[in-house]
Amino acid sequence: MKQVFDVEQVLAAMTLEEKAQTCSGRDFWMTQDNERLGIPKVMMCDGPNGLRKQPGEADHLGINKSIETVCYPTASAVAASFDTEMLEELGHILGQECRAEHVAMLLGPGVNMKRSPLCGRNFEYFSEDPYLAGKLAAAYIRGLQSEGVAACVKHFACNDQETRRMSGNSVLDERSLREIYLPAFELAVKEGKTRSIMCAYNAVNGTFAAENKLLLTDILRTDWGFDGFVVTDWGAVKDRVKGLLAGLDLEMPGSTEGKTAKIVAAVENGSLDEKVLDEAVRNVLRFVHDAVENQKECAEIDRAVADENALRFAENSAVLMKNEDKLLPIQKGQKLAVIGAYAEAPRYQGAGSSHINAPKVASFLSAMEGKNWEISYAKGFDGDTGETNDALLQEAAETAKNADVALLFVGLPEVYETEGADREDMDLPAGVNALVETVCAVNPNAAVVLHGGAPVVMPWYESVKSVLCLYLGGDRVGEAAANLLTGAANPSGKLAETWPLRLEDNPSYLNFPGEEGVVHYAEGSYIGYRYYDKRKMPVRAPFGHGLSYTEFAYSDLRFDKTELTENDSLNVTCKVKNIGAVAGQEAVQLYVGVPQSRVNRAVRELKGFTKIALEPGEEKTVSFTLDSRAVAYWEKRIGGWFVESGPVVIEVGSSSRDLSLSGTVQMKSSMFIPTVFDRNTTIGDLLQNPKGAAIVGKMMSGGHSDEDLKEADDAMGAGAKRMREKMMMEMPLGSLVSYGRMSDEQLDGLLAMLNA
Ligand code: BGC
Repeated sequence: MKQVFDVEQVLAAMTLEEKAQTCSGRDFWMTQDNERLGIPKVMMCDGPNGLRKQPGEADHLGINKSIETVCYPTASAVAASFDTEMLEELGHILGQECRAEHVAMLLGPGVNMKRSPLCGRNFEYFSEDPYLAGKLAAAYIRGLQSEGVAACVKHFACNDQETRRMSGNSVLDERSLREIYLPAFELAVKEGKTRSIMCAYNAVNGTFAAENKLLLTDILRTDWGFDGFVVTDWGAVKDRVKGLLAGLDLEMPGSTEGKTAKIVAAVENGSLDEKVLDEAVRNVLRFVHDAVENQKECAEIDRAVADENALRFAENSAVLMKNEDKLLPIQKGQKLAVIGAYAEAPRYQGAGSSHINAPKVASFLSAMEGKNWEISYAKGFDGDTGETNDALLQEAAETAKNADVALLFVGLPEVYETEGADREDMDLPAGVNALVETVCAVNPNAAVVLHGGAPVVMPWYESVKSVLCLYLGGDRVGEAAANLLTGAANPSGKLAETWPLRLEDNPSYLNFPGEEGVVHYAEGSYIGYRYYDKRKMPVRAPFGHGLSYTEFAYSDLRFDKTELTENDSLNVTCKVKNIGAVAGQEAVQLYVGVPQSRVNRAVRELKGFTKIALEPGEEKTVSFTLDSRAVAYWEKRIGGWFVESGPVVIEVGSSSRDLSLSGTVQMKSSMFIPTVFDRNTTIGDLLQNPKGAAIVGKMMSGGHSDEDLKEADDAMGAGAKRMREKMMMEMPLGSLVSYGRMSDEQLDGLLAMLNA
C-alpha cells in the first residue's frame, strides 16, 4: 500500500494561506506541494495526440522544446475513424506514456464543436456533431484513466473559435447550448467519468467561463453529477474570488502572490465563505491524492510498438472522399508520378500547445522505397508557404505527363491552421490549386492525397479522379498513405464534419468570428449537417461520408417494438454485408428524426454508430440501443429534456446522405409542459391542455350554430373559413374581452380555473 495523505485530515490542518495556495499551480505544469502536510506536487501536460512534456522552460504555445515522443493523428483525424475502440486504445497508450513520464494528467481531449470550418483549432477537435464528439471523447477518457492518469476535457464551453479567444463572448440560446454545445462535455462527464474539466477563456452569454456558475456548478455538478475538479485554461482567470464562487477549483499556471492574498482577504472580510474555498481545495487535493494512489509504475515505452500503433490509427482514420473508375488502389506495374512537397515531408500535426516533438516522421516517398513501383517525384510547391512558380509547375507537368497515375500530395501549410488564429477563408494556397490544375491538364488519372486539419475548398474536385483525405495523420502518416494507396490497407474513415462547397454556405458564415469580441450563434442548433440537410443544400461531401475499396449492402432493419414511451429503450438491428472482393471496415450510422415536432428541429441527428470489420462475403448483424434522450429536445419551460408523442423516423446507412434503411416507430409520451395561462395565452395554446380543450369548442363557434357557420363559410369561400379558423386559434384570451365575448371578471374567473 502506498503512503498517501488523508484529504480531510490535511484540509482540517491547513492554514487559510495554505488553502489559498493549493487552489493555484506551483508553476507552469505542477500542482502546489506542501512539505509540512506531506502533499506532493503532481504534473499535468499537454496532449492530446501525444505527450508534450516540457522538462525545461515551459510555455503554453508550443514554443519551447518538449520531450521526443510519438505524434498520433490529431483529433480531427481520429474522429474520422468513427471507432470508439480505437479511441479507447489511444487513451490507454497515452496513459502508459504519461505513466512512464510521471505525468498525472493529460490536458485533453478537446470537444468543442466545429461551428465554422475556419476555427484555427479545429484540428484539435472531433466533430460538428456533439454525439460523435462525446462518444469518442468518453472512449478516449476511459482508456487514459484506466491507466491511472486523469483526463481533462477542454475547453468548457463554447470556445469554438480562436479570434479573441481570451476575451470573446459567445452568445447563444439555451436550446442550442444544451443540444449542441454541451452534450459532448456531458458524455465526457457521464460516460467517460473525466476527472477534470478545463474551463474556456471566453465568456458564454456575458459571463466568463472561469466565473460562470451556471456552467461550472449548476450544469456540471448539479445536473451532470461531476465530482472531479475544474482547472482554468492557462491564464483564463480574471477574478479569482468570483471564480471560486462559481465553482472553479484550480488556477493554472501558478498564480501570483496577489491572487492568493485576494482569496485570503475575501475569506477574512466575509465576501467568500471559507466552506466554498474548502470545497475547491478538497477537489484539488482529491486529484493529487488519487494521482499518487493510482500511480502505476511503467517501463519505458517500446517505440517500435508505438510506431505501429500510430500507423494503424492513421490508416483507420483516412477518408476516401472520391474514387472514380476505381483509380485507387494503384496497381502493380503502374508508373507513378508523385507530386507535391508533402510526399517528401508530410504535414502531420497542428501548431500550438498540442505540438508534439516527433523525432522521426515517415514520408510517403521513404515508405515506398523497396515496394517495387516506378516512381518519379516533383516537389511542385513549397510545403511551408504553399507557393509555387513556373519552374516547379513545369517540372510537375513533365513528371505527370508520362505516368499512369499522378499522386498529388498537397494540403494546407501549417501557418494556415494554428491555435490562437482562425483561418480567413477555406481556400488552399493559390500555388497548391495551380499545381493540381497543372497536373490534371496533362494527366487524367490524378489522385489528390490531402493533408490538413479541416475542410478546404477544392475548385479542381471534378477534374481529379480520387481524393484521399489524411487530415493531420500523425508521424506515421506517410507510411499510412503508402499502405492505403497501394491497397495494403483499405480506407474506412468517415467525415466527422460536412465539407461545404464554399465557405459562404456554412451556417455560421454571417456570424463568424463576430464583431467587437461578441459572436452571436444566430444559426442556433443548425450546425453542420443539421443545417445543410434542413435546407436541402448540395455539399462537397456530407457528414459521415467515406468510401472503401469494397462495398457494403445494408438490409433487414428491425425494431424490438413499434410503439414506445419515454421510459422505454428501443433496440434497433440491421444487417451489413461486404459484397466486394476485399476485406474492409464500415462505420454504420444511425440517425433519428422527429418529423412532426412542435419545435424547430433538424431533419435527422446522429444517435448511434459502430465500426465493423467484414471479410469479402461476410455479413454481420449490427445492433443499437436508443433511449428517449435520442428523441428529446431541450424544453426551456421545464428546464429539461422533453419527449414528444408522435412518429420517430430511424434511418441507418453509411453516411448522413446515404441512408438505405429507414423505418418509423411511434412515441407515446406522457410528458407535458405545465402551462401558466394568462391573457396572452392563445386559444390554440389552450387546446393543448385537457381542461382548456373542453371549453374551447364553445369559443370557436363564437356562440353561432353549426348551420349558421356553414352558411357563412359557403357565402365567404374557403379562404375566409381558413382565415377565421386561423385567427381564432391565434386569438389571445384577452381579445375575448375586447370583442365583447366575455367580461373582465369572467376571463379572470376562467384563468383562475385553468391555473388551479
Ligand atoms: C490552451 C490549452 C492548453 C494550455 C496549456 C492554452 O493556451 O488553450 O488547450 O492545454 O494552454 O498549454
